[in-house]
This record gives sequence, C-alpha cells and structure tokens, in this order.
Amino acid sequence: MMKPIVKYKKRGKQKAQFVIDGIDFIWANTIRRAIMTYVPSMAVERVRIYENTSPIYDEILVKRIGLVPLFTDLKTYNLPQECKCGGKGCARCQVTLILEKSGPGMVYSGDLKAQDPKIKPVYDKIPLVKLGKGQKVKMEMIAQLGLMSDHAKYQPALASYKQLTETKFEFFVESYNNLTPEEIIECAMDRLGTKFDTQI
Ligand SMILES: [Zn+2]
Repeated sequence: MMKPIVKYKKRGKQKAQFVIDGIDFIWANTIRRAIMTYVPSMAVERVRIYENTSPIYDEILVKRIGLVPLFTDLKTYNLPQECKCGGKGCARCQVTLILEKSGPGMVYSGDLKAQDPKIKPVYDKIPLVKLGKGQKVKMEMIAQLGLMSDHAKYQPALASYKQLTETKFEFFVESYNNLTPEEIIECAMDRLGTKFDTQI
C-alpha cells in the first residue's frame, strides 16, 4: 500500500486543512480514525494523594488532572506496551509529576511540576480547584503515553473530513497538545502503515 499524498491548504501550529487524492471513503474514514486513535499523547494515568483538603472530592480532582494536556514527546517516550521494560514502567515510558499548593488561591494546570521539565502542561491556566484559607493539595502523579482506545483523555486531535469528488477528500485536523497537525498526521500514517504491514 502506497502512502496517500497529502496536499495542505492551511498548515498552522494547531489547525490544518488538507486534501488527500486517490483514496475512497473507506480509506478516508480509516485515516480519520487513525489520526484520533493511533497517535499517542501524554496524560496523567495514576495519582497518589497525600493531602486533599480542597472543597472537591479526590475522584473529581483526579479526573480534572487527567484531562490536562501534557507536552507530548514521541521521540523520547514510548507507549508502555511498546517499551523495552515490557510495560512495568521506566524512565522511557513514565514521568513523575508533583502538585503541592496551599490556599487561599486557585490551583492551575501550571502548578503541575514534572521530573522531566519538558513534560509540562500545554496550557498553564486551566483552573483545577479553588483553595480556601488553610486548604491544601499534595499529590504525586505518573504520566505516560496512551491511546484514545485506552481512554478519551489520550485523544491527540480532532479530525473530520468532507468528500469533494469520488476520490478526493478534504480533511480538517485540530491538535489538542503541542504536536502540530502535521506531526500527528505523519505519526498516524506511519502507525497505519505498520498495522497494515503486520496484518497482511
Ligand atoms: Zn518503560
């Protein structure tokens, strides 16, 4: 299978529009799904709470933290299931983050501090919880790469298309993290190629 040729109409850091010629609607939908489901992204997977005297429950706070987009570095990090450690967890597939803050004041995504300074939140000002005077949160987290098939928080981008002619499709991709739409599409195509090679 030859890799389909992508012609860009708009190519931004976050959003891109491009046309793929020479495919049918089955391929168009496969590419759309590959962009959303085969490209890994970084998110908090496990949380150990030492202290949470904030007004919200542990579970809700953990869910909010899980949804914070983290810097995704596909060159340094492996998906745990594809890592040499066999998924046990090592420096190539896991990052530890710390959150410690006392009130009064708002806890923001930017307060998450990672052991690898590269793996910072993509947006600093996502509010997580408002602390009153004397209230405190203290927790340790493990972030890892994951796929949307594991959890929706790992979805790296939005992808949609419209059909222009029988073989021509116009796609729209919006990235949710630091990866550019171009990097996401390239990774999706690569992983799609690998999948097909291994299936045939
Ligand atoms: Zn590992």
